[in-house]
Amino acid sequence: MTAKILSGAKIANEIKQEVAEEIAILPFRATLTVVRVGEDKASAVYVGSKVKTSEELGIISEHLHLSAETTQAELLEIVEKLNTRDDVDGILVQLPLPKHIDENAILEKISPEKDVDGFSPINVGRLWQSQNALAPCTPAGVIEILKRSNIEIAGRHAVVLGRSNIVGKPMAMLLLQENATVTICHSRTKNLAEITRQADILVAAIGRTGFVRGEHIKEGATVIDVGINNVSDIEFARELFDETELEKRLNTIGKRGYTLVGDVNPKEARERAAYFTPVPGGVGLLTVAMLMKNTIEAAKKRRIMMNGE
Ligand code: NDP
Repeated sequence: MTAKILSGAKIANEIKQEVAEEIAILPFRATLTVVRVGEDKASAVYVGSKVKTSEELGIISEHLHLSAETTQAELLEIVEKLNTRDDVDGILVQLPLPKHIDENAILEKISPEKDVDGFSPINVGRLWQSQNALAPCTPAGVIEILKRSNIEIAGRHAVVLGRSNIVGKPMAMLLLQENATVTICHSRTKNLAEITRQADILVAAIGRTGFVRGEHIKEGATVIDVGINNVSDIEFARELFDETELEKRLNTIGKRGYTLVGDVNPKEARERAAYFTPVPGGVGLLTVAMLMKNTIEAAKKRRIMMNGE
């Protein structure tokens, strides 16, 4: 079997187009404020792409880049100010934060109505109670990929690999809401391959390069690869890519020093799965598109509720 590749770009563009159409008829301009603390390189790239996409779609974006020495008290105060600013619709504090800052304390401070990442305890609770909540962007994007690719979720066995607060747990909850039968696996799961092989839908979010092999995948399954990892070793790249892709990847390693790979071995997934999301070009693109969608949702709800705009 050769898996059909589910293009994140196509679906992300559809969503961004829908968001742009909504923005065009709104009587106000929405504002998204992204707060970044310190010099984490990956965070700088992620924030850059969030700001750029906001601007492309007509969302006002504000980027507060704070020094790595910012204290927890200072950051709490900044978030509080953003909570009370009437022109700010969405607040996103880019994770990870420097070690001296308690992430949970910051997430708890963000007003649930402006929490476009869906990480505040109130929104997490709302999600678990199946109330209307701003859902975390990456897992919400996975649901969009499945739905817009006409992959049935209801009644099917979905196995989520990983139980983080930002991907694994909300992913499991969103799949449950779509009436899948859900199993969550983690680093202490025994006989992992036996469980993942039962999955009609397998979502990998563990941060382990190419960890999911053919033996983990049921023939004909849908495999969603959330992982984003760098591979610079040429021999390892040979294990991960088939002849259709290897040359391109080796060129990328030659030019950039690394190539992006998910948590799934793409060569083996292509052989066993029916549908597979690529890395790059899969789930990652949806994360930003869903952030735009959440920002507009948050703006509409809050402004209509508070100002009657
Ligand atoms: P975390 O490190 O927070 O969580 C990893 C999870 O995977 C943990 O629950 C851990 O289990 C589990 N795990 C680790 N090793 C194994 C193993 N050998 N077998 C089974 N389970 C294992 O990662 P995140 O959830 O933040 O991210 C996961 C991946 O997704 C990363 O590659 C990250 O870069 C990527 N990511 C991609 C995004 C996108 O936009 N595409 C957005 C966010 C993340 P335990 O709890 O027992 O330790």
